[in-house]
Formats: sequence, structure tokens, C-alpha cells
Amino acid sequence: MELFKEMEKHGHEQVMFLQDNKVGLKAVIAIHNTVLGPSLGGCRMWDYDKEEDVVIDALRLSKGMTYKSGISGVDFGGAKSVIWGDPEEDKTEGIFRALGKYINSLQGRYSTGTDVGTTYDDFVILRKETPYVGALPKEYGGSGDSSIATAYGVFHGIKASCKYKYGKKDCSGLTVAVQGLGKVGSKLTKHLIDAGCEVIATDINEDYIKEGKELGAKIVEPDEIYDVDCDIFSPNALGSVINEETIDRLNCDIIAGAANNVLADHSFADKLREKDILYAPDYVINAGGLIQVADELGVGGYNEERTMKKCEGIYDKLLQIFKIADQKGITTFDAADHMVEERIEMMKAIHNIRG
Ligand code: NAD
Repeated sequence: MELFKEMEKHGHEQVMFLQDNKVGLKAVIAIHNTVLGPSLGGCRMWDYDKEEDVVIDALRLSKGMTYKSGISGVDFGGAKSVIWGDPEEDKTEGIFRALGKYINSLQGRYSTGTDVGTTYDDFVILRKETPYVGALPKEYGGSGDSSIATAYGVFHGIKASCKYKYGKKDCSGLTVAVQGLGKVGSKLTKHLIDAGCEVIATDINEDYIKEGKELGAKIVEPDEIYDVDCDIFSPNALGSVINEETIDRLNCDIIAGAANNVLADHSFADKLREKDILYAPDYVINAGGLIQVADELGVGGYNEERTMKKCEGIYDKLLQIFKIADQKGITTFDAADHMVEERIEMMKAIHNIRG
């Protein structure tokens, strides 16, 4: 891969390669954009097949974080760190302490937190080397489990989608197909059932299925979830689930869930629009966790009530995006992207004012 070309194409500022064979660290930190503020983005640990995949993921995920921060109105830029290793086999104290030291050397230009393959325990270790980490457990002075805020934000995003699609104030009486009953999916299911929805859900983990049943969800096999006759399809497991194989199976009016990179590629935003399926862009609706961490790292420290209020704001943000998409005849994805790019341009103009 031609790294500089790739960075130029997507507007990345900085990519760092970290290596320490004594502790087994191989990692990349990609900082995409810091116009809105110091960069923020979780740390992923994954057993990639090859080096190039590590870099590509870091580039893609860090850019996504710029857009998530941008749309959420927080004053942070976008970045991501990616550790190359098997999260089940390769974790050591040394890896997270070494990464912590590198992050500390950036003096706040980048702050991190959990992502796929990393846990709160890993960051309790990393915290020994740097204060630039968010969403630690409450007993360590952090804001705690971010999936609570994420699920709350997704629930408000679903309500906004129902308002736009059906003119309904709430989502009672609607059927929601929930893919994934993990941290976010289970909490979202509870919100939906409490709000009077019928939830048809799936997971590959028996414990989570049991929990889903206890919450009142009807369970289907993992592959059957795409064929469920529903009003809303809510992906809360993996990325790329809207793809060539699944798109024509969907029987829904709305797609709204927490999973990152739901669309296999950008062309599916157009295809959903052609099918008149309303798509709530992933980085807008799932921003609750980021809103929480930004609140924690911002002025005055974490305030739960303020954070939840900000998560409720996802409702208005999505309505605005849906309206712009309709007015301009573009996809909701493009409408959201344009809003972020306008905000970044506005902030560049502000930076030009001599203070
Ligand atoms: P999680 O790992 O707790 O839950 C994911 C669930 O999906 C697991 O229960 C897993 O068994 C299930 N799953 C995996 N493959 C599946 C399949 N083929 N069919 C059905 N279920 C399957 O993760 P989470 O924190 O709940 O996050 C869910 C999604 O939301 C992820 O894509 C994540 O990137 C995204 N997200 C999470 C947060 C957060 O605050 N946790 C914030 C933003 C975005």
C-alpha cells in the first residue's frame, strides 16, 4: 500500500507505528483530524492476517471517529489505535503499559478507550502510564460502561426515525428486529420493550439469548433475522451486514442500530434510498458512548445527567439529517457527512481569527 497516498486521499494528519518485541507490542496509532480538538478514539486489538490490514483498519476507523465527533458537536478530533495480536491469547501487562507510554508522549493529542478486543481491565493497566484514557470503570474514577449511553442514544435515534417515517411520536406497537444482544443490544431491547415495541432478536451466544428471552424478546436463528417481517431492523452486532446478500431479504422501513460500518460500502446507502428504507447513519445514532467519553474528558469532568441529555439530542440531529437528505435528494449518509465537513470548515475559519 502507498501509505502517504492513502493518508492524503482520506485527509489523515499522522500515523505512528509502535514496536517493542520484548513486550510483544505491534501497534498503529492513526490521527485523522484535529481541527475540532485533540483526537479521541478507542483501541482495537485484533489478529489481522497481514500488516496492511492493521494499517487500513486504523486509517478507516480514525476517519470514522472524526465524523462521529463532528456530528455529535463535541470538541474532539478523530483517531484510533490498533494493536496487532489475538485478544484471547496475546494480551500482556507490558503491551498495555508500553502503549500507555507512547500515548502519554503525545501529551493529550490523542486519548483512548475500549473497542473491539479490549476491555476495561486493559485500560486500568494502561492508565498507570497515562491519564489520556476515557470510560474507565467508575471505581477507577471514570464514567463507566459506555454501552448504557450508546443504547440510550440509539433508542432516541429509533424514535426519531419513527417520527420521520410514520409521523409517530413514539415507537409503541412497532416490531423491531434486533441483531445482537450484547452490551448495547440487550439494553436497547429493554428500552424498546418498555416503550411498547415487539422485539424479535438474535445472537450467537446462548447466555445473551437467555437474557433476551427474559427481557421479553422473541428469539430467531442468527441468519433468520434478515427475513423478519418488521418495521425496524436494528443491527447491534457486526459491521457490513447490509450487503449484496442481505439487502433484498430485508422486510423493514427503517435501519437504525449501534453497529459501526453497517453498510458493506457506500453504494448501499443509495440502494436503501432507492428501496425507500430510511437509514439512520451509524456514526450519528451510535454516538452515545463517544458523547460520554467527551463529557468525561471535557471541562469539569463527567456528569451523567448532562451526558444522557446530550444523547437525547441524537433525536433532533437525525431529524435534521433526514430533512436535509430529502430536500437535497441525497442519501442520509451523505447528508450527515456534509454536516460534519461544514462544521470542520467553520472551525478552520474560527482558528484563523487571531485571539
Ligand atoms: P458486544 O460484543 O457486547 O455485542 C455484540 C453481540 O453481537 C454479541 O453478543 C455477539 O455474540 C453478537 N453477535 C456476533 N455475531 C453475531 C451474529 N452473526 N448474529 C447475531 N449476533 C452476533 O458489543 P457491543 O458493545 O454491544 O457493541 C455492538 C455494536 O455496536 C458493535 O458493532 C460496536 O462496534 C458498536 N458500538 C458499540 C458502542 C458501545 O458503547 N459499546 C458504541 C458505538 C458502537
